[in-house]
Amino acid sequence: MSDFLHLLKKEELNEVFNSIQGEGFQVGFPMTFIRFNKCNKACSFCDTNFSCALHHYDANLLSQQRILFTGGEPFLFHQTIKTLIKNMKDKKFFGETNGSLYEDFIAKNVTWAISPKNKEDVFNCEKLLKANENSYLKLVFGSEDFDFIFSYFYKKNKNRICIQPLTKGSHFLNLQECVNFCATYNIMVSPRLHILYGMN
Ligand code: SF4
Repeated sequence: MSDFLHLLKKEELNEVFNSIQGEGFQVGFPMTFIRFNKCNKACSFCDTNFSCALHHYDANLLSQQRILFTGGEPFLFHQTIKTLIKNMKDKKFFGETNGSLYEDFIAKNVTWAISPKNKEDVFNCEKLLKANENSYLKLVFGSEDFDFIFSYFYKKNKNRICIQPLTKGSHFLNLQECVNFCATYNIMVSPRLHILYGMN
């Protein structure tokens, strides 16, 4: 697997590690997480430590069957992702994006969990949903434009939505309200299992 070492640019990375997917429609699957180190947003509830230098880096970690791109914003690093996909043909690729950017190859070849943070991004999110039928929306309950974004997508894409509570560190801030809301609309609660398990 170390053949792939040269495909990742260390200056673009925050961390690379193996864990289980704690959120969204692939919850529970073991994956290799590739976390990029820049984002084009600045959300108040962001839990990514962008000042953190690269750690946990080991190209042998790319042995998992499922590879997940996260951030930061992976679409800022589409060229690196494209190169990895073209060279790792036996893997399945997943990603987490804020839904504000688009690049056709990775939109089609990665299953994206799309988490729009601003209402002006809904049109780009629709484009991402069209590009890959397995991509879905992972909405953050209580974020600034949540009501608008949920209403916009609910009628057309109900079966492609999950909703997760806000967290700060290991604390869930609005879990009960989130569960109540999801029960009302019959939507999956994305659990954030890695926080419950105390994992990375
Ligand atoms: S879009 Fe995601 S990674 Fe970027 S600042 Fe917001 S929460 Fe953090």
